[in-house]
Amino acid sequence: MNSRRFIIPLLILLLPLFANAQHRKKKTRSRTVTQEVSSGTSFRVVPLGVLGGIDERNLSAYMVAPAGSDKYICLDAGTLHAGIEEAVKNKAFDVRGEKVLKDYIQGYFISHGHLDHLAGMIINSPEDSSKNIYGLASTLETIKKHYFSWESWANFADDGDKPQLKKYHYVPMEPGAELPAANTTMQVKAFPLAHSNLTSTAFLVRSNDDYLLYLGDTGADEIEKSQNLQHLWEAVAPLVKAGKLKAIMIEVSFPNEQPDKTLFGHLTPRLLMNELDELARISGTSLKGLNVVITHLKPPYKTITKIKTQLNYANEERQMNLIYPRRGKVLNF
Ligand SMILES: [Zn+2]
Ligand SMILES: [Zn+2]
Repeated sequence: MNSRRFIIPLLILLLPLFANAQHRKKKTRSRTVTQEVSSGTSFRVVPLGVLGGIDERNLSAYMVAPAGSDKYICLDAGTLHAGIEEAVKNKAFDVRGEKVLKDYIQGYFISHGHLDHLAGMIINSPEDSSKNIYGLASTLETIKKHYFSWESWANFADDGDKPQLKKYHYVPMEPGAELPAANTTMQVKAFPLAHSNLTSTAFLVRSNDDYLLYLGDTGADEIEKSQNLQHLWEAVAPLVKAGKLKAIMIEVSFPNEQPDKTLFGHLTPRLLMNELDELARISGTSLKGLNVVITHLKPPYKTITKIKTQLNYANEERQMNLIYPRRGKVLNF
């Protein structure tokens, strides 16, 4: 009894010390999050949305910056606001969401005109700052005609239906020609992809001598009767061989059971592995350890689990580093 009477006041006295230690621990952790630039890291990727459908708070959009920089580009823009809010909550950024949208994102690279890749950009446009929208001419044409048209939305761009509010400037990309991403130190090259009835795009992002490859929606060459992926693999094979390709971000939308005729220009685990085996063959090297970020998984969640199981199984012999991104969780490459 006596000792208990002694211990309780002692604990009360010590409490502020514990609290302080906890507080300090927290502070250190948040500093590591915002300054997690470690040697060997070239790119910081903040996924704002990662799925291929249904959940409008979580559609394809990935902020990418050179490690240590706040000057990002956004690869696709299906979800912006909800993704930025989640990232801020996770301490991926130490500024308010509004600043991330206006000051951190320097431009949008849109892979194709499907809504799940640009809805966030359209909806956030009234609050956004002035910036460039990059894409193949066909993609920009779709945005001009069908979204910033005064019929679906006000025309915030500097081309198309009048009056033009001129907040956004369209920058058409020529396939295979590298161009600088304005206000960043990154360069980006576009490659056409076959995606059912339309042309989608892969963006090869360069920072100094390091590369990151992002593919918008794409079907497999064998299904699409195309050579687009073949040409893309030929272009990046030397980078794979030299260890300069830090990550590939590529879609898998359906499980292996999906019949070919209902793939609608998307990949399954089997088709992805066939394509990556081709990349390995052209590179003359194994892809063991290569960061492969799997994007655009299509709900329901039961199907997503199945796709992951099939991918992980197929990867057992290949030993790539398969990554399933999460909205608002930073990836470093
Ligand atoms: Zn899509
Ligand atoms: Zn699509």
